[in-house]
Amino acid sequence: MKLIKCAIGSIALIAIMASCCQKQATEPTDPDMKHLLLATAWFQQSAEMRACYYQSYNMAKLALKDNLQNYKGTKPAAVVLDIDETVLDNSPFEAKLMADRHNYSDSAWMAWSAREEALALPGAAEFIAYARELGVEVFFISNRILEERDRTLRNLAAAGMAVDSAHLLLYDLSKKTSCKDERRNAVSATHEIILFVGDNLGDYTSLFDRRDSTLALRLADSLHNDFGRKFIMLPNPMYGEWENAIYNHSYKLPMAEKNRMMLGLLRK
Ligand SMILES: [Mg+2]
Repeated sequence: MKLIKCAIGSIALIAIMASCCQKQATEPTDPDMKHLLLATAWFQQSAEMRACYYQSYNMAKLALKDNLQNYKGTKPAAVVLDIDETVLDNSPFEAKLMADRHNYSDSAWMAWSAREEALALPGAAEFIAYARELGVEVFFISNRILEERDRTLRNLAAAGMAVDSAHLLLYDLSKKTSCKDERRNAVSATHEIILFVGDNLGDYTSLFDRRDSTLALRLADSLHNDFGRKFIMLPNPMYGEWENAIYNHSYKLPMAEKNRMMLGLLRK
């Protein structure tokens, strides 16, 4: 009887331990990271996110056709797209970081990109096919690093957006800047860029690369006529230069401190 009681006690203990472990494994690293959980859930699992991407790429098609009709130059026309969270969906990477209770690291990112499993974002592959039908050359300018070239080419192809190496301009770490100006200028030397597509305003102009305490909000207002015409902006609530600017570029501060900075900035 005593033995049976002990056995029942052990089973109950194991069950409690299992349920605790299960709970731990499904909670984010840090309760202060729950904003990222909500942002990632919205990005990956909301119909609204899909609608935003379709809407943006539908507008991109209209703008591309219009800009091409109005273009009278002699250089071939081109469209420049960013890759991550513009044409490829890396939200499983964010989800896995939280599920594994890890913070972002370059090595974790490299392990994710090596899997070559990022899916096409809604409307992206169709837009790229449409641009090519119109005779517009498609370039990708991304801050993935040179070391990721082959895996990126394969992932883009698997997602229905194949491109050759000459049309993929990556971040050369030896240049010590992730600013895209030099690569945009390289495309502009031979082509007329008639449309940009990205999830970060730095995909369009370096004016937004390092934002001061004004967060470049008025700068965005000053360019309001360009959005939807020269520049197609996609929604990314998970990360971006907008977030770094809120933390005064101190991304490595503890999350609780960063949350205080965020809350302090909000209009109430
Ligand atoms: Mg991006």
